[in-house]
Amino acid sequence: RTVYVDGSYVAEQDAKVSVFDRGFLFADGVYEVCSVLESKVVDFDGHMRRLRRSTAELDMGLPWTDEALLEIHRELIRRNDLTEGLVYLQLTRGNPGDRDFDFPAADTGPTLVLFTQTKSLLESRTGRDGIRVATQPDWRWMRRDIKTVQLLYPSMAKMAAKAAGADDAWMVEDGLVTEGASNNAWMLSHDGVLVTRELSSAILPGITRAAVMAIAEVLSLRVEERAFSVEEAKQAKECFVTSATSFVTPVIALDGVPIGDGMPGEVAMKLRAAYIEESRRRAI
Ligand code: PLP
Repeated sequence: RTVYVDGSYVAEQDAKVSVFDRGFLFADGVYEVCSVLESKVVDFDGHMRRLRRSTAELDMGLPWTDEALLEIHRELIRRNDLTEGLVYLQLTRGNPGDRDFDFPAADTGPTLVLFTQTKSLLESRTGRDGIRVATQPDWRWMRRDIKTVQLLYPSMAKMAAKAAGADDAWMVEDGLVTEGASNNAWMLSHDGVLVTRELSSAILPGITRAAVMAIAEVLSLRVEERAFSVEEAKQAKECFVTSATSFVTPVIALDGVPIGDGMPGEVAMKLRAAYIEESRRRAI
């Protein structure tokens, strides 16, 4: 596989980043994941807007234009013959040459790394059959709106969910669901209202979340942005998650309690199909 590191396209075994890179020592970095369908990038503009916001919130520079970043995405897709999967982009505060808590002077350039992963997105078992979710306490930091590479706790939460017999974790704070470990959480109430948590520093502003909200409007489905409890979700008509690589994925059980009839929800599957159609059409 060919990857991109700091201006060069290299074979993955030849790619090198310094041990002093702040991404490695301090998790001082941000990332984005765009899905790829038919060799085209889905929702590129939205992901780049969020990347710019993440870097601005952390006082990190981003000395590339969207056009330059799109060109790197396309070149990697081409070099790796990628038709379906994802492009991962990571930007760290770079290598100041020593370990120091202080941010380095501005002349330390950021480190930009991109790579591709082949993945079946359209025909996935989870997309068809749904996932079981287990709740975990949300012990992440308080700036979850910034997409940083600090993913140790989400990893631990996913492992704990798997140990509990589930496929993924939903994070819970004060009895309320914040979001999934790597996706946004949704429920459908019995009176047909889609509910997903309002944007704040408690959750990541999902690009797929925004796209699904727009699709819901076109389909005349009501959306309420508010927090919901684990109990409310367990009694919901449907639950599902959204993310760039899982699209819309039904949740069929929460902490062992079947959601609805324990089968993928009708509205979730309708939103999934509509999201895929729209993404294919708009991919660049
Ligand atoms: N929430 C968290 C914590 C995530 O890590 C992700 C994606 O990785 C999402 C939500 C979904 O965001 P997006 O739809 O932009 O992929």
